[in-house]
Amino acid sequence: MKINPRLDIYLDKIKKNSENIKNLCLQHEIEVVGVTKGCCAIPEVAQAMIEGGIKILGDSRIENIKKLKGFKIKADMMLIRIPMLSEVDKVIRWADISLNSEISVIKSLSQTALKNDLIHKIILMIDLGDLREGIMPGETLRMVEEIRELSGVKLIGLGANFCCISGAMPSQKNLTKLVKLAEEIENNFGIALEVISGGNTSVLKLVEDNIIPERINQLRIGVGILLGQDDARSRNLIGTYQDTFILTGEIIELKEKHSLPQGEIGRDAFGEMPVFQDLGIRKRAILAIGKQDIRLNSLIPLKEGIKIIGASSDHLIIDVTDFKEDVRVGDGIKFRLNYPALLSATTSNYINKYFL
Ligand SMILES: *Cc1c(COP(=O)(O)O)cnc(C)c1O
Repeated sequence: MKINPRLDIYLDKIKKNSENIKNLCLQHEIEVVGVTKGCCAIPEVAQAMIEGGIKILGDSRIENIKKLKGFKIKADMMLIRIPMLSEVDKVIRWADISLNSEISVIKSLSQTALKNDLIHKIILMIDLGDLREGIMPGETLRMVEEIRELSGVKLIGLGANFCCISGAMPSQKNLTKLVKLAEEIENNFGIALEVISGGNTSVLKLVEDNIIPERINQLRIGVGILLGQDDARSRNLIGTYQDTFILTGEIIELKEKHSLPQGEIGRDAFGEMPVFQDLGIRKRAILAIGKQDIRLNSLIPLKEGIKIIGASSDHLIIDVTDFKEDVRVGDGIKFRLNYPALLSATTSNYINKYFL
């Protein structure tokens, strides 16, 4: 018997998602980096990406990259979060490529690489408006000049990111700016940049619409592969599956209770003031899973008639009054996950993972 709470992971669907996104990008000579951070780099999921034709994997945590290398996953590994100075040794040891924006870090990477007799590949991140990582476009040439003096690192290209912090969307215009910057570097220094890494899942729309600038030749895709979703546009990607990860919570209590709490109402365990509607007596179930494991607002019941009421650390309350099926204590209730819930469910040590 499978032990709850559990996450059923449909590897064949993740493989299919990888394949379809890879094929879409291939038509535009764009390489897909499969980003594993959304599922804590579960090795079986990374392997499904590889089987779907992905050749480079990216993750924001060096621990995840080290784990994948330990599982002998055959792929180049890209660290997609700007490295911490304190982890430079590990970055050189485990990552083949890293995204960078700080010269002190790049200098340290270079020194460490030289000590280890190797050359570390870097992609310089440019901030095109999302205001997360990246140097301002006007600083590019000066930065490249400094990087070129460091013999332990090789600048293989430029990169940008969108829709992560400020929700700034990618466009033909700002990606053309990235290409222009790359060409400026090439002309100024007489070098060729092999990679222009145009961003994440949110850029796929430009590929579909055939308006992606020609020289963009790499995208780093996480959610698009893992969940078949383009969250920036609240849409599903064509030809992908969304039911790739299914979470099951088990009913530990099932009772008819009043929908309004009794007595004076104070703040809940998470500092919020809950508001309830009077719906009379309702059939409520408690599932043995909670805020320690999941994000409530990105959990979607698979079946109709089930409504999420709330959760504390270890209890998730659902209303099953309108649910047509017969439910009992011990039954499992299934949910599909959006990105935040996927991230927390795969991070939780309490959720058992099963592969299908
Ligand atoms: C998370 C991340 C990605 C992948 O983003 P998705 O929206 O999951 O495709 C790509 N690049 C960087 C730098 C990231 O941090």
